[in-house]
Amino acid sequence: MLYKKIALALLATPLIASGVQAQTVGISMPTKSSARWIADGQSMVEQFQAAHYKTDLQYAEDDIPNQLSQIENMITKGADVLVIAAIDGTTLSNVLENAAAAGIPVIAYDRLIRESPNVDYYATFDNFKVGVLQATSLVNGLKARFGSVHPWNVELFGGSPDDNNAYFFYDGAMSVLQPLIDAGDIVIPSGQTGMDRVGTLRWDGSAAQARMDNLLSANYTKQAVHGVLSPYDGMSIGILSSLKGVGYGSGGQTMPIVTGQDAEVPSIKSILAGEQYATVFKDTRRLAAVTVGMVDALLKEGEPEINDKTTYENGVKVVPAYLLDPVPVDASNWKSVLVDSGYYSLDQVQ
Ligand code: BGC
Repeated sequence: MLYKKIALALLATPLIASGVQAQTVGISMPTKSSARWIADGQSMVEQFQAAHYKTDLQYAEDDIPNQLSQIENMITKGADVLVIAAIDGTTLSNVLENAAAAGIPVIAYDRLIRESPNVDYYATFDNFKVGVLQATSLVNGLKARFGSVHPWNVELFGGSPDDNNAYFFYDGAMSVLQPLIDAGDIVIPSGQTGMDRVGTLRWDGSAAQARMDNLLSANYTKQAVHGVLSPYDGMSIGILSSLKGVGYGSGGQTMPIVTGQDAEVPSIKSILAGEQYATVFKDTRRLAAVTVGMVDALLKEGEPEINDKTTYENGVKVVPAYLLDPVPVDASNWKSVLVDSGYYSLDQVQ
């Protein structure tokens, strides 16, 4: 730690000596209620500072007016660039007009900012693939745990309808599940499909738990549920509580296959305990590195590296993007993916 500080101080010296002011990156994150966004913020602060930028990191606790005023403040204080993970991807048009008027470039971080021309680049993961991976682990789990059962009873959960990613996850998952539904291998006893019916505002774990309670009492008094598509670990933990509440996972009631996303610590512990079946790891250190590279190129009038020019239409324009690869995680590979890579220590997850 001390070495790191000394090294950073030495690196910073020429900048100070030459009188060049470090530029400021305004980083607006949605909430601290989920560990992944805390990790994103920390990685960005570390990596931006190592590249000689100042950072102004703010969390909005999932409150839209709060996020708007935090961004407004960054603009007033003279941020040189904005990196934003939106709470609601459609509410930022006005504040981004102010950013554009002040000549401040904007990078959408992980979540696409919609309905605005004032978004320059998008750093994210391959969101469709996240959904494909979730559904693939669901199907693999169903085969492994309920191979002799036909058809499989499955319920679907979607993410927040104001988050563009939620549609990509859902569509990716359905690209795998729909053929099995059409073939009669999977049935959805509640009949609830489509993001308008299965979406979960603000990715809220308690809302997911309450909906699972209702699904169970309305559809599963005479039959068992075998699988639940959950798009995010915080929701998976709520869904698992609901399932355990009616006896799944004990007394001969086999735990259904439950998916997730973000490889959050409670979910890794749950996977180790044989409850949650799988999650999808998105390395926030790599997303931070891509973002720092984009900012650096933008502010030095270079060309940020992108690998996708077609997928992310935001209602006004296609936003050039860099997509990272998500990684499926389950009981067979959590250690090599999460611990050997230094993302978590063994103590954190065991
Ligand atoms: C992110 C996911 C996260 C979800 C809930 C999405 O926009 O891409 O990684 O699980 O928000 O925070």
